[in-house]
Amino acid sequence: MNVPEYSAPPSADGPSQRRVVDALLRHLPSHAVLWTDESTTPYECDGLTAYRQRPLAVALPETDAQVQQVLRTCHALQVPVVARGAGTGLSGGAMPHARGVTLSLAKFNRILAIDPAARTALVQAGVRNLAISEAAAPHGLYYAPDPSSQIACTIGGNVAENSGGVHCLKYGLTVHNVLKVKGYSVEGDAVEFGSDALDTAGLDLLAILNGSEGMLAVTTEVTVRLIPKPQLARCIMASFDDMRRAGDAVAAIIAAGIIPAGLEMMDRPMTAAVEDFVHAGYDLAAEAILLCESDGTPHEVEEEIGRMREVLLRCGATAITVSVDEAERLRFWSGRKNAFPASGRISPDYMCMDSTIPRKRLADILLAIQAMERKYGLRCVNVFHAGDGNLHPLILFDANDPDQLHRCERFGADILETSVAMGGTVTGEHGVGVEKLNSMCVQFTAEEREAMLAVKRAFDPAGLLNPGKVIPSLHRCAEYGRVVIRGSQGQGWSHPDLPRF
Ligand SMILES: Cc1cc2nc3c(=O)[nH]c(=O)nc-3n(C[C@H](O)[C@H](O)[C@H](O)COP(=O)(O)OP(=O)(O)OC[C@H]3O[C@@H](n4cnc5c(N)ncnc54)[C@H](O)[C@@H]3O)c2cc1C
Repeated sequence: MNVPEYSAPPSADGPSQRRVVDALLRHLPSHAVLWTDESTTPYECDGLTAYRQRPLAVALPETDAQVQQVLRTCHALQVPVVARGAGTGLSGGAMPHARGVTLSLAKFNRILAIDPAARTALVQAGVRNLAISEAAAPHGLYYAPDPSSQIACTIGGNVAENSGGVHCLKYGLTVHNVLKVKGYSVEGDAVEFGSDALDTAGLDLLAILNGSEGMLAVTTEVTVRLIPKPQLARCIMASFDDMRRAGDAVAAIIAAGIIPAGLEMMDRPMTAAVEDFVHAGYDLAAEAILLCESDGTPHEVEEEIGRMREVLLRCGATAITVSVDEAERLRFWSGRKNAFPASGRISPDYMCMDSTIPRKRLADILLAIQAMERKYGLRCVNVFHAGDGNLHPLILFDANDPDQLHRCERFGADILETSVAMGGTVTGEHGVGVEKLNSMCVQFTAEEREAMLAVKRAFDPAGLLNPGKVIPSLHRCAEYGRVVIRGSQGQGWSHPDLPRF
């Protein structure tokens, strides 16, 4: 057998690749440790493809004992560990560390139990989001949080990002649908957060784990809530000839006391890209379209659809179509669910921002983004969870052109910082990762960031779990402040310390 050469040179800042790989191979079979350039390259980035870094090694454990040994080995060698699910994250959260081990949970893909009486599912961390609902379907149940990436993303990644989706407006984010998480600490000790009961005593560490982006523990098992599938769901597609009227309609629906099962918005460039791809039947003349879903009993749905139709017409909708059957409803949503891949067809690369703003400012931010397109000379298409005020501007660019990448970064930073200025936050559901580190300096004070670092240190004193992500250092923010914050807002700042391809 040809044994490949170790590819990374010994590092002055940590143990050599040879030492790390040899140590891992003491506990894992050879097929479960990757270290050649060829075999680690597929892991070099997540969905934020502009930033790439090969790890020293990738470990693919199959058992809890192996996860434990990977963590113990890395801890003993003081080597960083980056947990990885499906790598669909959009903020660089699973981007490897140059001197670290990427710990893939891909082989933790078993559904361990569905309990229809308790309405729960116990699944391994690498189980795909959609696979949970598929397994629960024979019991008339499903798992509600539905990221558009649900065909691929894992429940471990969902917990780490506190992921959302179209139906989270009504049914809550991941944090509201997870009962218990089991896993391992950075030292390789078994840990458990939450319980099978409704609540646990003491501090709510389960809530802290949700959205912690792999910085506090490695998840191996998750217990999620399941809910009954609604008897009926129908979807309204409403057209608007004006962005402001569409944005105001979203706020008006919620203000009318309606919580739709989904309330999504797309602008004209986005519907054009989507229509060309999946032929969902969208109104291409509209400046913006809204998709408003109602679910429940037939009586509840009819009543709610009627109320939403009234509000939409009052807010200036130019056309309204209500799905007549399940096939049409799914066709309306197929466009929304395929919006990101559709963007990939019209541009070599896209960067998806993820800020959240108060709903009443939707139109303001969308018009501000249009002005930014002219300022930075780049196109931007919009598709987003309008009911949550959670934006997803996709900035289109070519990452092979350094100037375009730089302008894209500045454009993105401008959107995030304008969102903060409008009373919002820099991320709704995609996490901070490496992408929004600088914007965290704008949103949070030094004291607030220090409180986050203190939590991180309590779980991981040596800072080995996913280092360099989520919480910017004081030094970084001081630098960023010197370059940007004290100057005009929204100039952005590229990531000098991030490897690009
Ligand atoms: C086309 C597309 C559409 C998307 N739509 C949505 C959407 O609607 N809503 C939404 O919220 N997101 C969306 N996303 C983003 C992404 O799918 C989610 O963030 C998802 O939760 C990531 O899961 P993953 O398994 O791919 O995790 P990864 O990308 O592999 O990892 C994400 C983070 O979780 C950590 N992590 C992963 N597994 C574990 C574990 N077992 N233990 C500890 N830490 C772990 C990683 O270290 C990293 O920080 C979309 C992405 C794409 C590409």
